[in-house]
Amino acid sequence: SASIQRQRVCVLGSTGSIGTNTLDVIARHPERYDVFALSAMSRVDELFAQVMRWQPRYALMPDAAAARQLRDKLRDEGSRTEVLDGAQALADIAAHPEVDSVMAAIVGAAGLAPCLAAARAGKRLMLANKEALVVGGALFMQAVQQGGAMLLPIDSEHSAIFQCLPEDRSAWAQRIDHILLTSSGGPFRTRDPATMREVTPEMACAHPNFVMGRKISVDSATMMNKALEVIEARWLFDLKPEQVRVLIHPQQIVHSMVVCRDNSVLAQLGTPDMRVPIAYGLSFPERIESGAEALDFHALGGLSFEPPDHARYPGLALSWAAMAAPEGSTAVLNAANEVAVAAFLERQIRFDQIHQLNEQTLAAVHPEAGDTHSLEGLLALDQRARAHAQQLARGLAP
Ligand code: NAD
Ligand code: MG
Repeated sequence: SASIQRQRVCVLGSTGSIGTNTLDVIARHPERYDVFALSAMSRVDELFAQVMRWQPRYALMPDAAAARQLRDKLRDEGSRTEVLDGAQALADIAAHPEVDSVMAAIVGAAGLAPCLAAARAGKRLMLANKEALVVGGALFMQAVQQGGAMLLPIDSEHSAIFQCLPEDRSAWAQRIDHILLTSSGGPFRTRDPATMREVTPEMACAHPNFVMGRKISVDSATMMNKALEVIEARWLFDLKPEQVRVLIHPQQIVHSMVVCRDNSVLAQLGTPDMRVPIAYGLSFPERIESGAEALDFHALGGLSFEPPDHARYPGLALSWAAMAAPEGSTAVLNAANEVAVAAFLERQIRFDQIHQLNEQTLAAVHPEAGDTHSLEGLLALDQRARAHAQQLARGLAP
């Protein structure tokens, strides 16, 4: 109808799992959304196909050689899309005056700069890229507030919490006693912990319920994904670390819960399909068709819940350790984990050594005063932590 305000959307990380699911939802609502920009790190052919389908104003590739390939292919087709390269282009386009909404679906700290740019420019910022908030912390939240941005969580747990809370944020603190982030427990929930050292990248990336990027798949297996989500929730909902708790729920039907002051518990349920939180991010405060199947309560077996076993998932406790340590320590933990996961995927370290590397880097790299006051300071801290973790990884390599 004429009352619908069209949104021009910039999708950062459009070739990934969240990126392609975002375009799937957008395709269902051509009357609502225009794709203004698409971006990817590699996979030129996939980005090329997306550009041909969506004809965005811009296509962004941080890597100049990849951008050149894409530009050549598009020129042959007579495409009018302009290809930009360099990391700065991501931040520039995320803050472009004609952009209404930014889907932040890049993986890792690399997404922080464009997220900050979108926040400062007051965009609707749909955040899948949890690492950006784990690294950015208070600076990120300040940018959202000062820029007047609308920060919408895309992580399914955080979207669930958000959906259980009133639209008026000033009522949140009064209402919440604590939140329960649910976790599937990953692919090794019942595996003998003594055999974790034999886990291969293929085993870790075979997630029981749906296909995700390789980094988050490994993080789900170690529970570092939940550790990052605890920190993410702390910032999104302005909670104390002890107000964020974790519960294993293998069926992934309850996406997370809010326990209120009066012990009333609010939960958000649905089939595990990322298009639901994505659609909510795109349409909030309205609701639109997402493509997800309705939950069939008759076919549903039981729902079960259990406390996390910290011996099986030692990484989980690092979340609270990093939040209790000097500000910036969560950025150190994130950097260590990015290096550890990459080293594991490259078969340089074993699965169980991911935790060893994270723990030792967190203990060894200390943020300095001022590191967390600017993007440059945070990125320098991130680099210091990466260098330390890389050195440890080389020492562990067989
Ligand atoms: P993915 O690996 O499938 O996709 C990542 C995308 O980012 C790709 O388009 C890639 O080209 C791009 N990219 C990677 N590194 C980049 C860099 N340095 N600079 C610019 N672009 C880069 O990952 P994903 O599973 O879609 O996850 C994306 C983010 O969403 C992650 O932070 C993840 O934790 C979060 N998330 C994912 C899911 C899921 O179901 N996949 C659920 C919740 C949250
Ligand atoms: Mg999640």
